[in-house]
Amino acid sequence: MSSASRIWTSIDFDQDGKQSDYMRVPYSSDKSAYGWIPVPMICIRNGNGPTALLTAGNHGDEYEGQIALLNLARQITPEDVRGRIIILPALNYPAVVTGRRVSPLDDGNLNRLFPGEANGGPTAMIAHYVENVLFPLCDIVIDLHSGGKSLDHYPVALARPGLDAAGAAKNRALLEAFGAPYSVVTSGEGGGAGTTLYAAAEQRGIPALTTELGSGGTLSARGLSIAEDGIRRVLKAYGITPKIQAVASPGTRFMRSLSRGGSIYAPKTGLFEPHVECGEPILNGQKAGLLHAFDTPLAEPTSLVFGTDGIVLCRRFPTLTERGDCLFLLMVDED
Ligand code: CA
Repeated sequence: MSSASRIWTSIDFDQDGKQSDYMRVPYSSDKSAYGWIPVPMICIRNGNGPTALLTAGNHGDEYEGQIALLNLARQITPEDVRGRIIILPALNYPAVVTGRRVSPLDDGNLNRLFPGEANGGPTAMIAHYVENVLFPLCDIVIDLHSGGKSLDHYPVALARPGLDAAGAAKNRALLEAFGAPYSVVTSGEGGGAGTTLYAAAEQRGIPALTTELGSGGTLSARGLSIAEDGIRRVLKAYGITPKIQAVASPGTRFMRSLSRGGSIYAPKTGLFEPHVECGEPILNGQKAGLLHAFDTPLAEPTSLVFGTDGIVLCRRFPTLTERGDCLFLLMVDED
């Protein structure tokens, strides 16, 4: 499991200054027998101090994080830093260049493949490198996501519940420093469960947060500023960029995601007509929308009803829907 990574880089993580190179992921194909996939990586270091790992493009069709990290990588100078920042704005690069959630090379969903494999497909190799080479260098981890093409997502930061009380407190402190308008503690089940990047960081006791900042494979200006402001606040709060400009957070509201119990899944294939928006408060029994049967024109549409109170965290973005698609997920205030 912990065999050596085949990925290499020209970056020396112990060298001061700003270095830009790639995680060079070996990939032998018809087009390039001895080639490698260039996953962009920037290391900004200045002396001893904590290390932050900042990643985006884990899913290729989620853009606020990718642009936030490109901006920060250009803007932050070694003189700003006390310690080290490692930035990967396009972590699953083959997915990023094709605008897809998963890699076109091996259908790899990077955020479902942790802890990865040294000799797996390119996506599993990337996960393995993050797990075995980058995590041991890191004191905090931020992995920026958005809704992507299939979700309309209310902008939030999220963290796992923690393995124990100390882990929970560390994740909570990181969410507070990031200061998104809403901070969601996930249930630990559902979604990617233990196979995500932030869950893998949790397993190693590294405080980690993720985000969901926008919708539908486009760019939300609000989501972008939540990402940039939040990272600047974190870097300052953890002493990594003590003098950097960071807008004060207006405060964060702690929430809990409901996972399966607070979700509506499509009971059949059809055309989804939502009746509520992201961020909207919901009461148990409220109508969520309709599912129209395009193959049975005179059939009454199926009525979708919420089974619990909450606030809409995300909803399905495309109208065309198949049985099993997640149509809504709710969050609630922490007790
Ligand atoms: Ca994602």
